[in-house]
Amino acid sequence: MLYAHVNCLKYLICLVCCLSASGLNAAEVNVYSARKEDLIKPLLQQFEADSGINVNLVTGKADALLQRLISEGKNSPADIFITVDAGRLHRAKEADVLQAVHSPTLEKAVPEQYRDPKGYWFGLSVRARPIVYAVKRVDPERLSSYESLADPRWKQKVCIRSSDNIYNQSLVAALLAHHGTEKTTEWATGFADNFARPPQGGDRDQIKAVAAGQCDIAVVNTYYLGQMLTSKDEKEQQAAWQVKIFWPNQDDRGTHVNISGAGITTASKNKDEAIALLEYLVSDSAQQWYAETNYEYPVAPGIPPSDLLKEWGEFKADTLSLSRLGELNAQAVMVMDHAKWK
Ligand code: FE
Repeated sequence: MLYAHVNCLKYLICLVCCLSASGLNAAEVNVYSARKEDLIKPLLQQFEADSGINVNLVTGKADALLQRLISEGKNSPADIFITVDAGRLHRAKEADVLQAVHSPTLEKAVPEQYRDPKGYWFGLSVRARPIVYAVKRVDPERLSSYESLADPRWKQKVCIRSSDNIYNQSLVAALLAHHGTEKTTEWATGFADNFARPPQGGDRDQIKAVAAGQCDIAVVNTYYLGQMLTSKDEKEQQAAWQVKIFWPNQDDRGTHVNISGAGITTASKNKDEAIALLEYLVSDSAQQWYAETNYEYPVAPGIPPSDLLKEWGEFKADTLSLSRLGELNAQAVMVMDHAKWK
């Protein structure tokens, strides 16, 4: 009888051990991502295979995911928040949904200007926002800098999306960091005065408008051009062929750049696993795949961009610390408002 009891107990212990080993307590990490699933999922699967850590992915719009993190507070299941634009990452930091982390691997792989100085967020890829121009109508010799786009010679020639777009807010924040309020307001006023039409649509629509002759120049993120050039939609491809990239400010501070990036949430219950995932995302192989898939530039130095990006030529990027973009965001919005940039 006693023997039967001991055996039964052994069986129970074994059952509990087996259950926990089979996944009840398996390591996991929960990701909220503002990037589309197919732009990130293969990387997460590779991380799962390499590390044995399960990744649960929730994708959504950037602002909605941030709102969700705020309303879930410390009960949020999220460990990592992935989004685009340093201005948005700064907003997440200010909303107390991110925590500072220290990782020598992240600090080594991500150049200083592409991460928060205290470790609240880290860049995962770099995106550039240069000028594109109509190949048939614009002599690139006449282009030079963002500043020169306020010159009356470009009256009714410029297309750009609206001032409520974070990419433009960050561009103006960069100008504020370099020139101060007075000069930037003067520039923004002249620039807005040159608009060919009231701002509308996304960056792709600006490229299409240049191709259609509605304007001669636009300011856009380059990955949209990459997406259009490789699009299955023939019209998009043809529009993309009508424009070329001009890298502004090569004689001074360099072209305005921004990042896609990520931070560990304040609510994270799997912090070690979350750091391990971020470290994986800045590893050489992940960087190459991620940047190529998104038509962006790797954030880690020494990793070559894709062949398509190489065709657009090398350029000097502004070395401004991108944490400044978030700090100056409110001021940038005021400047654009004052300039009547809709
Ligand atoms: Fe975008």
